This record gives sequence, C-alpha cells and structure tokens, in this order.
Amino acid sequence: MSAQAPITQDVHTIPRKLPEGPVNLVGLTREAMRDALIDAGVPEKQARMRTGQIWQWIYQWGVRDFDAMTNLAKGLRADLRERFVIEIPEVVSKQVSSDGTRKYLVRIAGGHEVEVVYIPEEGRGTLCVSSQVGCTLTCSFCHTGTQKLVRNLTAAEIIGQVMMARDDLGEWPEMGAPKDETRLLSNIVLMGMGEPLYNFENVRDAMKIAMDAEGIQLSRRRITLSTSGVVPEIARTAQEIGCQLAVSFHATTDDVRDKLVPINKRWNIAELLDALRSYPKVSNSERITFEYVMLDGVNDSDVDAHRLIKLIEGIPAKINLIPFNEWPGAPYKRSSNNRIRAFANIIYQAGYASPIRTPRGEDIMAACGQLKSATERSRKSRRQIEAEAGIGSS
Ligand code: SAH
Ligand code: SF4
Repeated sequence: MSAQAPITQDVHTIPRKLPEGPVNLVGLTREAMRDALIDAGVPEKQARMRTGQIWQWIYQWGVRDFDAMTNLAKGLRADLRERFVIEIPEVVSKQVSSDGTRKYLVRIAGGHEVEVVYIPEEGRGTLCVSSQVGCTLTCSFCHTGTQKLVRNLTAAEIIGQVMMARDDLGEWPEMGAPKDETRLLSNIVLMGMGEPLYNFENVRDAMKIAMDAEGIQLSRRRITLSTSGVVPEIARTAQEIGCQLAVSFHATTDDVRDKLVPINKRWNIAELLDALRSYPKVSNSERITFEYVMLDGVNDSDVDAHRLIKLIEGIPAKINLIPFNEWPGAPYKRSSNNRIRAFANIIYQAGYASPIRTPRGEDIMAACGQLKSATERSRKSRRQIEAEAGIGSS
C-alpha cells in the first residue's frame, strides 16, 4: 500500500435525515430501519418484526404505499405515513436502442441527473448502475471523466436505480404466484457513472439490500463492482460486500496507465496487483475480471498482450476486452477488429478467458464509458482532454 496520504475528496452525501422532512426508508440497512422505527415510537420489542414486514413490502413486493401494507395495523400505517417516505429516483427519460438496451436518465435530489442502463441478454439481463454524479477521476478515454464530480449518490439512490428498473420491467412478483427463476434483471454491474470505491458505504449498503434474502435476492455472484483501482478499499470490498470484482486495468506499463487511468499515479500497477492477489480468497469469488479498453496504437500491441499475461500471473482472472466506445471529442480511436482478435488470441492461448465485449446500445450512447448527464455535456474541450491525457493535439 502507498505511504502517501489518501486522495482528499471534495465530496459529500446528502444526509439521509433532513432536519424537518420525513425520512426515506429506502436505502436504510435493517439496523438503521429498526432504529428509525423506534425513533418514531414503535415499541422496541416489536421493532425487529415490523422492520421485517416493511422490508418485505418494499423490497420483495415493490410496494411504496403504506396503506397497502395490510399486515400492519391501520394506526401504525398512519404513523408511518407521517414520519416516513418510500422514495426512489424519478425517471426523466427513457431511450430504447435497436438492440433492446434501455437507457434511463433519472433525477435525484438537488436536480442532478444520472444514467442507468439495462442490457437484455439471452435468459438474463444486466443493470448498469451509477454510484456518483460525475467522477473525480479523469480517465482520458472516459466520457464520465470529463464531467466534474457533483456528489456521491446515497444508498437510496443506488438501490433506487434497481427498484426503478424493476418497475419499468414489470418485474415485482405477484403475491402468491409461483416463484419465477428467470429474471429479466438478473445481474448488477457497478459500471455506470462514478467510482464506486470512492462512495464505499453507500455502495455497500445498497448492495447488501440487493442481496438480502427477503427482498431483491440477487446472489453476490451476480453483482460486479468495477473499480479504477482504489487500492485501500479493495480488501474492504472483499470483506464487507463480497461481490465480484472487475478492475479497469487498461495498460501494461505505469507510463501508459498513468495517462489512461491517472489514479495509477497514486497506486501503481504493482500495488494494484498486490491488492488483487488476495481478493478471490477473502471474498470467496472465483476470479477477477480485468477490463481492458482497446485503444488504437496506445495499449493494443502483441507486446502489451504478453506483458499483461506476465503481470497477472498467479491471479485467477478473466480478461474482458472492451472495444473503445467513441464519444464526441474523444482523443482516441477504437482498435481494429483484427487487432482486438489477435490480442484476445494471445491471452486465450495463455489459458485465460478473453471475451470481447459487444458494445450495446451504441445508437443511444449507452455503451460503457459514454454515460454523462446532459446538463454536464461538453464541459471540457477536446484540447483540455488531450492536454490532461498528455497526448497533445497533432
Ligand atoms: N469508475 C469505475 C466504473 C465505471 S466505468 C471504473 O473505472 O472501473 C466501467 C468500465 O468502462 C471501466 O472499465 C471503464 O474503464 C470503461 N470505460 C470507460 N470509458 C470507456 C469508453 N469510452 N469505451 C470503453 N470502455 C470505457
Ligand atoms: Fe471515473 Fe471510471 Fe470513468 Fe475513470 S473510467 S473517469 S474512474 S467513471
């Protein structure tokens, strides 16, 4: 681990409890919900049971109206209505791609907007969830990275994206209906806007809710958190969340990674690999996904492929090759299909799975790294982006 002080961040999260307003029950851990109920006058002896009941209404059945919670006495329902709300982000717009990908723009407190993407696949479907409005990191190939961080999302706003998508997909189960094992929303990836490990507690609480056995019930194996490499939080992710980990690796030398993923200047490749080595064991997950964006002439040579294999030696891994998704003003080009295939083949020959990610929802700018809220678009010029990437315009 680096001896340097951690990056200080100008971030804040809206307090859950506004001094005068009602408390949102969404996003509270079970313990916090129990405390909130006791605060509201529910007798301590009953608090655990009431929490269980309300929890099921909210997360198992998708109910947001206290009056529909029929196993609670009428008086209690009225009290709850006075003190609490059950609120999720509001959908501002929805676009559907020709390939079925759905991109939602949702509005959160303060009038900010974040994007959420649903990707349907054969027999399953993945929701790409945002963890911050914008991002403090400035990866030079990422559209979100050109947008200033506005704030961290609350746990309610993070799990609320999942609840919103289940609403839109019509996927809350009918009470009494037989359990349907095929889910439209079967997987979550924390690969939307923001760096999830710079919003650790809220991401953790939201994912705990997604995994809870009496609610949305997604196995921790179906949740993947992608980080650019916030080394000190990786061990904590294994211990406190235990989900699958993906890491935005993208380069095989510190020189190149410093430019592509500037957090590398804080925690370099060697430090990152050290942290990754113990992840599978501690989290009891099978392997780590190394994400590798294919940028023409930057990181896509055969030499890079061989170096990558050498670097990750001994780490159970899968290498996910992402053809660069271009965005207006982007300072890079996507590698050719032949180059990507040749790179994939070298990795595959070394015994690693090396799937090439098919870009989805390109016609609606919903692909990886293209997310950016409309209000913040075109904030930086191409020249600024290039200067920061250290590549200068030619
Ligand atoms: N902040 C986190 C998660 C969000 S980005 C992280 O960086 O890991 C999800 C993935 O998309 C990351 O691997 C990111 O590097 C990649 N990505 C960003 N911009 C991209 C682009 N324009 N084309 C392809 N992949 C991109
Ligand atoms: Fe932030 Fe991830 Fe984009 Fe880098 S790739 S700027 S960490 S969202």
